[in-house]
Amino acid sequence: MTQKILVLSGDGIGKEIVAEALKVIEVLSSDFGLAVDLEYAEIGGAAYDVAGHPYPEATQKKAATADAILLGAVGGYEYEALPRELRPERGLLAIRADLDLFSNLRPAILNETLAGASSLRAEVVAGLDIMIVRELTGGIYFGQPRAIETNEKGERFAYNTMIYKESEIERIAHSAFKIAMQRDKRLCSVDKANVLEVSELWREVVIRVGADYPDVELTHMYVDNAAMQLVKAPKQFDVMVTGNLFGDILSDAAAMLTGSIGMLPSASLNAKGLGMYEPIHGSAPDIAGQNVANPLATIMSVSMMLRYSLDHVALADKIDRAVEKVLAQGYRTADIFEAGMKQVGTAEMGDAVVAALKA
Ligand code: NAD
Repeated sequence: MTQKILVLSGDGIGKEIVAEALKVIEVLSSDFGLAVDLEYAEIGGAAYDVAGHPYPEATQKKAATADAILLGAVGGYEYEALPRELRPERGLLAIRADLDLFSNLRPAILNETLAGASSLRAEVVAGLDIMIVRELTGGIYFGQPRAIETNEKGERFAYNTMIYKESEIERIAHSAFKIAMQRDKRLCSVDKANVLEVSELWREVVIRVGADYPDVELTHMYVDNAAMQLVKAPKQFDVMVTGNLFGDILSDAAAMLTGSIGMLPSASLNAKGLGMYEPIHGSAPDIAGQNVANPLATIMSVSMMLRYSLDHVALADKIDRAVEKVLAQGYRTADIFEAGMKQVGTAEMGDAVVAALKA
């Protein structure tokens, strides 16, 4: 069965890094039997330029029928003066909401050869491989009521609502348990159940869902301890699942354990398994068009796409091994360069991964 990938390169370095990811998809198609049709559309500033909106109808239509979406990045200096609802980043929020991409997968992986790039000691992080599953469409970022108001004494006060329905917790828990099943079968649910009712319900529902996955070892951790453990002994974790707010903070902290923004992929999935795959970094307008951006986060986003949406786990492993190989061979883009290594540009790094795949 031929599967359909929608390619949204976006802005800035988006086009350069996606071009390298497409080289990888091409070689998997020509040499390893991957059957995919590629469709292309615009998002972000590029979409505003041609259609006057960062998530235009033509893109929505293509997204609705795709099996998976590959996204570069959005944003650029030239769009900063636009009204908020027309800014490139709005395109990203709109496609996430449109497709109900509630499950955000943020791996923090640190290849042994790059351990020197971390702010932590190499032995604490070398070989790190954590997957943080963050609930993306609920919780305090969306809860109602929310407002800044003034009381009868004239003092201003503000409030937000942290709210989760059982069904929202159930679906993110299923998503996390399924991912744990594909990995080391250990899931740590992060909450603040000692203080928050919303966390009490979270924990209860996660435990209930866990009965469907008897092979997965489920543990629970309070978020303050989880933050501490992530910087103290991060390799203890396999998969972590948590709500929107805690996940936002913990996934950024975990990403920075690896010290290298150009190396980290991500995925956002909906209940049907449709996923949008993208590097965690932005459009890097400061280096766009110079053939210096690191394409590996985008190439590893293709690996995640094959693993989590397209059911080609063996091909995903192949990409991961090819990336490990080029790093072991000493290829480095400027962002991860160290003395004694071979500095290469965006296109040369893509070519090196293709060569490693073919070898
Ligand atoms: P950024 O991630 O684009 O860049 C931060 C720094 O990291 C820059 O110095 C950049 O050169 C470097 N960098 C990023 N990706 C790199 C790569 N692949 N290789 C080498 N170096 C890399 O973040 P920013 O500068 O805060 O934002 C720039 C634009 O991107 C803004 O318009 C912002 O809104 C947007 N943005 C988009 C996304 C997204 O599309 N998912 C995410 C974050 C920011």
